[in-house]
Amino acid sequence: MLECQVHGAQDLRVVDVPTPQPGPGEVLLRLGAAGICGSDMHYYFHGRNGSFVIREPLVPGHEASATVAATGAGVTRVKAGDRVAVNPSRPCGRCAGCREGRENLCANMRFLGSASVFPHMHGTFREFFLMPESQCVPVATDVSLAEIAMSEPFSIALHSAHRAGNLLGRRVLITGSGTIGCMMTLAAKLGGAAHVAITDVVDHPLAVARQVGADATVRTDLLPGDGRLSDVVGEPDVAFEVSGAPSALAACLETVRRGGIVVQVGTLPPEGVHLNANLIMARELDVRGSFRFADVFEHSVRSIAERRVDVRPVLSGVHPLTDAVRAITLARDKTVSMKVQLGPGA
Ligand SMILES: [Zn+2]
Ligand SMILES: [Zn+2]
Repeated sequence: MLECQVHGAQDLRVVDVPTPQPGPGEVLLRLGAAGICGSDMHYYFHGRNGSFVIREPLVPGHEASATVAATGAGVTRVKAGDRVAVNPSRPCGRCAGCREGRENLCANMRFLGSASVFPHMHGTFREFFLMPESQCVPVATDVSLAEIAMSEPFSIALHSAHRAGNLLGRRVLITGSGTIGCMMTLAAKLGGAAHVAITDVVDHPLAVARQVGADATVRTDLLPGDGRLSDVVGEPDVAFEVSGAPSALAACLETVRRGGIVVQVGTLPPEGVHLNANLIMARELDVRGSFRFADVFEHSVRSIAERRVDVRPVLSGVHPLTDAVRAITLARDKTVSMKVQLGPGA
């Protein structure tokens, strides 16, 4: 079987390795589709993702759907031929975060496709891989494997919506219109938001945001007059900062209404951000973080499987593992790509 290994910055090798065999409680999965995410691009282009540095060849990938190829002893949740969404989170279940029901804050999290632990936690950019059955969520409907693989990014958005609280009838601002911004749009609408305005500095992702239900799209680099976002979007109740751009966080703090909520979803620069933090005090804002997701994964899978949300406008094509470098490079080009995925190939 083929697997993609990142050995260091811009050193990705597609290697032929033996297909593993499932042990008790394990499921052997054949890749359906694996989304290429920002962290995968960081590992490939820079050999690191923030403070997580590659110390041995890493198989990236944490957004995947698959078909069950075989099951080990004792597995009852799935059987050969089932299509599943893969939950990339493996929390310890014992630490304070886990016991509180906030397993995304697990002190011992093992997350697929991550160099945060050593040996690294290998991900889903490979033809076959083993998963505990608890991380395999079966899908009974006939949505595509590419759609099922969006369960992880949609979970990010559902968790962020939970962090904001009740969105019913609320006016929402989302800064950053990439895949997560579009998933955030779907989650806000699902949560009953009255109006969703979304920003970016590139046209293509804004056009996709419109297709998934955004009510207003704004090019923040082309604002008229003195460039105030509130002149265009008013004063939203809730802002989700998805882009990771410091200027976008500043805009959220300035634009959201007094007493409003700002949820930081995107990853800001590691060196920190200079902010007019008095806005938080004087406007009495609630600023909340949102990291990965906790117990929303199965709801995300169901929402996509039953097409209560339609993720198809965000899909930009599935490429074979052997074309991984080209696909990762394509995924980085925001003028043409949203969610680019890898598949097993012919
Ligand atoms: Zn991701
Ligand atoms: Zn834990």
